[in-house]
Amino acid sequence: MFDQNKHINATYESVSHMDHYIETVDRMRTDPEKKQREKKSFCKWCYYMSFVGVDDTKPCMACRTDVYGRVKVCTKCAQEHRLCVRCGGDLDMRPRRRKW
Ligand SMILES: [Zn+2]
Ligand SMILES: [Zn+2]
Repeated sequence: MFDQNKHINATYESVSHMDHYIETVDRMRTDPEKKQREKKSFCKWCYYMSFVGVDDTKPCMACRTDVYGRVKVCTKCAQEHRLCVRCGGDLDMRPRRRKW
């Protein structure tokens, strides 16, 4: 049986997902929490898409010490080399920076 309310609710749900997505993209563009983001050593993608990924233990990409969480690099290496703790990339998203 056709239930109009189900489709209205589904519509609201999609709109709300879409709004959240647009908001997230906007935040990546404008980087309103830059200070806090850099303090935590996250690149823009990893910071604003923080809801992605699972917690587990693995060796740091740089020094091989075990790290736990949705991270690939330990805090020490991240700060020392200006890396993103989560993806191990450059904190400012410059793949061709002069010094790694
Ligand atoms: Zn490390
Ligand atoms: Zn990252």
